[in-house]
Amino acid sequence: GIQPSGHLHIGNYLGAITQWVDLQKEYDCFFCIVDYHAITVKQNPEELRKKILELTKIYLAAGIDPKKSVIFQQSLVSEHTELAWILNCTSARVSDLKKMTQFKDKSLKHGENVSVGLFDYPVLMAADILLYNADLVPVGDDQIQHVELARDLAKRFNNDFQDTFKVPDYKVRKEGARIMGLDDPSKKMSKSADSPANFLGLTDSPEVIKRKIMRAVTDSGSEIKYDRQNKPAISNLISIYSLLSGLSVKEIEKKYLGHGYGDFKHDLAVVTLEFMSEFQKRYSMISDKQAEKILASGAKRAKLVASQKLIQVKKAIGLI
Ligand code: AMP
Repeated sequence: GIQPSGHLHIGNYLGAITQWVDLQKEYDCFFCIVDYHAITVKQNPEELRKKILELTKIYLAAGIDPKKSVIFQQSLVSEHTELAWILNCTSARVSDLKKMTQFKDKSLKHGENVSVGLFDYPVLMAADILLYNADLVPVGDDQIQHVELARDLAKRFNNDFQDTFKVPDYKVRKEGARIMGLDDPSKKMSKSADSPANFLGLTDSPEVIKRKIMRAVTDSGSEIKYDRQNKPAISNLISIYSLLSGLSVKEIEKKYLGHGYGDFKHDLAVVTLEFMSEFQKRYSMISDKQAEKILASGAKRAKLVASQKLIQVKKAIGLI
């Protein structure tokens, strides 16, 4: 799942969505628009409604096929919040949730206004996963800790009641698992970044993309060399180039031997714009109506599976 908030960026695309497209070949997949996760921080209602459809269209434009996979909106399948509540009461511990680094980071940002939902976010995410007997959860590496919590909750529940949940694995890409911010390569590219210079948005215009790439921070020296430790900024740009072009890191280093950052950034902009223009063409051909229809049928298909699992859970703990 991805939250329908902020600006979907190339990190979401390369870290999460491209993996999803590939997994459709091997697995029965459920892809979710996690709107209940989005409201753990303040959202504008009008914007949120728009973003839900926008994200659905992004999934479709990226190649998620609704004939193969289930695409659905989390809040239309009430089993997610029901299971989250049950897990809150049976298996989740405040001490576990206090360890979540994403909560620590986000709560610093939201100060006095941290919602209880933000603290409980990982339990809802565990419900999202466990309802569907997931074998594999494809994520960027910022979400590994949350999938590990889902594994722990599943094991604890199975142990305390009866064998109910499949214990899921996570899958992260070797490259692209963490695309860093263009304005600060020590922090991940983020939808909720303070500055738009941080990310390459999937719906940014060509001029904006080009400007952001040309202004991306670089490291000292002038060599185009992949070295995460000493050259984090250029290494991040090389990763993006490599993932979008299909050239390996070694091939890129060779291609730019003797060239400076300016030449490299110029070509990165060309490669990125090529990808973006194809992507945005597909995106613009999908109507809001089509997206709404896909979400309505996806919710029915998701509910069929989720409701079965919830009955099992309720039986296990004695509610029915
Ligand atoms: P979120 O942006 O938190 O809704 O995350 C949606 C998905 O995108 C998750 O699988 C994240 O792990 C992934 N993701 C988010 N930001 C990045 C990033 N900077 N690099 C790679 N993957 C990311």
